Amino acid sequence: MKKQTFVALMNDSFWRPKIDLFAAEGIAYQWRVLNDAEPGAAKSHSVRNFKIAAGLAEGEHYGKVFQDSDLAKWIEAASYSLFYHDSPQLRSRLEEVIGILEKAQQSDGYLNTYYTIKEPENRFKNIENGHELYCAGHMLEAAVAYYDATGSSRLLNILSREVDYFLSIFGKNAGQLDTYPGHEEIELALAKAFERTGDEKYLDLAEYFINSRGVVPGFLAEPGFLSRKERFRGSDYYQAHAPIREQMTAEGHAVRAMYLFSGAAEVARLKNDDSLRQALYRLWDNVTGKRMYVTGSVGSLKDGERFSLVDYDLPPDIAYAETCAAIGLAMWAYRMLKDRPEARFADIMERVLYNGVLSGVSHDGRHYFYVNPLKIKPAVAKTRPESEHVKPSRVKWFGTACCPPNVMRTVLGIGSYVYTQKDDDIYMHLYAGHSAQIMTARGELQLSVCSEMPWKGGMQMRVSGEGSGRLWLRVPDYARGFALSKNGNDENIQAVNGYVPVDIAPGDVIEAAFSMEAQFVHANPNVDEIACKAAVLRGPLVYCAEEADNFPLLSSFRADAKTHISEEKANLFGGIVRLTVQGDLYDAISWGEGELYRTGAPKRIPAQLHMIPYSLWNNRGEGEMAVWLNII
Ligand SMILES: [Zn+2]
Repeated sequence: MKKQTFVALMNDSFWRPKIDLFAAEGIAYQWRVLNDAEPGAAKSHSVRNFKIAAGLAEGEHYGKVFQDSDLAKWIEAASYSLFYHDSPQLRSRLEEVIGILEKAQQSDGYLNTYYTIKEPENRFKNIENGHELYCAGHMLEAAVAYYDATGSSRLLNILSREVDYFLSIFGKNAGQLDTYPGHEEIELALAKAFERTGDEKYLDLAEYFINSRGVVPGFLAEPGFLSRKERFRGSDYYQAHAPIREQMTAEGHAVRAMYLFSGAAEVARLKNDDSLRQALYRLWDNVTGKRMYVTGSVGSLKDGERFSLVDYDLPPDIAYAETCAAIGLAMWAYRMLKDRPEARFADIMERVLYNGVLSGVSHDGRHYFYVNPLKIKPAVAKTRPESEHVKPSRVKWFGTACCPPNVMRTVLGIGSYVYTQKDDDIYMHLYAGHSAQIMTARGELQLSVCSEMPWKGGMQMRVSGEGSGRLWLRVPDYARGFALSKNGNDENIQAVNGYVPVDIAPGDVIEAAFSMEAQFVHANPNVDEIACKAAVLRGPLVYCAEEADNFPLLSSFRADAKTHISEEKANLFGGIVRLTVQGDLYDAISWGEGELYRTGAPKRIPAQLHMIPYSLWNNRGEGEMAVWLNII
């Protein structure tokens, strides 16, 4: 087994409190939910399903075909939390869970509660939507995380046996199923397992699934597939409408697409496959240039939880923008960075982590959004049929609960997004404060980083340990006046693909500084609903206006985009930078009852609008929220 890839341990004032909250309460809270012991939360049954499959309990399977993935993500999150708080109780609980999984695994290696308990005769008969390989992928990611955190291969051994079983089932030999999973996920998990174990079987299976999709008919040839009438669930829903190398645009179910591209980026890197790499660059440009919300969320259509069929279709109020899809974009961006460090990937990764991902969880860590709109008027959202998916408040859990454990594993695993490394070239993508241990050719470097991101640009790094390397520091797209010093001496700023290099060795102190003033960001006029509007961004944070800080009828305000946006430290949510925008306000009070329309120029009065980070919206009760502002 290879040594774990390094994980930066966050110690800043932004991520660390969230990590501590999840480690102290979130893990226990979600464990109660998964055991149906949390009053008011939707039923999960996830743990009991495994106990039944293991012969340790009586009963029926409850939940969706992908219910197993909720426990898998919990195991992954709990494993990451051990990096921060090595709890003997949590370790023994994880061992207990793994013991259940060992017993639930069938003699041939198969591990899936739905098809073991409920439909044993239908194993792999619904590759399209059965989610068996999706669940296995999440459990494989959990196994890698558990190995990283504890050094124990116990869970990985279970998954290794299951992958051996998959290798007997899937492939091009006579009698095998020549197909690919309807919901991608296992591909990127297989790549992770390959990186830890060096066992080519994982990579071979990942490559087979990536290369088969859209090439062999797979499940598309199943009786009835093409006769189905579901409008948004054709072959493109599964990214199977064409070989990935020929896909020009991101199509279909957004989470599936993001997970596919993540897995494909791993295969492109590990196999040095340039045709795959070029396809991913093209798809990246399509997603981030034409199909992504300013928050980094993707997948605007509710029907099919998918990308719109056309570019620039990004409605803010009926956005789908699933939390899992935002997480998927961060995962993809990170894997693009592993292959080729270019700051444009990190800019998006940071944007989506700080906005579209974090909006999925409340400040108390116990309430979640599945759907992440950029505008809400609660009374309308609750009553319009086309807004049915848009909730004005986060909830405790969902019947389809993919998002809550996904956001928890992402926050607890945020340290894995900070760096990528190629030999002794160390690329730092995120400036948040942390400590990290990085193996170089001549020893292990310890990096200790202080930072006030996302409130103040820059960081100070102290280098200790052994070895040496070249640190590449990202120049964020929003940074102004980027300056770099080493041991008090200014360094030349010569960025390559958005990264500035500086040689580091023990004893060095590296300081980077840049300003990141709040600024208006205007929308492409092709995006109909937000044409001629502007959002406010400061550093990586997208801001929003909430009724709680302002007034109802947020859309009656017009921002003056030519004026300065003022900043102040506010004692909200543990301390934030609050913004105030100048503008004017429609005089709504003068309108009489029943006066729906009026001629003559509207009367406007000078006004200002307070804004908070978008990810923090809806932590003070229901109310209007808007990211995009009318401008004068
Ligand atoms: Zn989800």
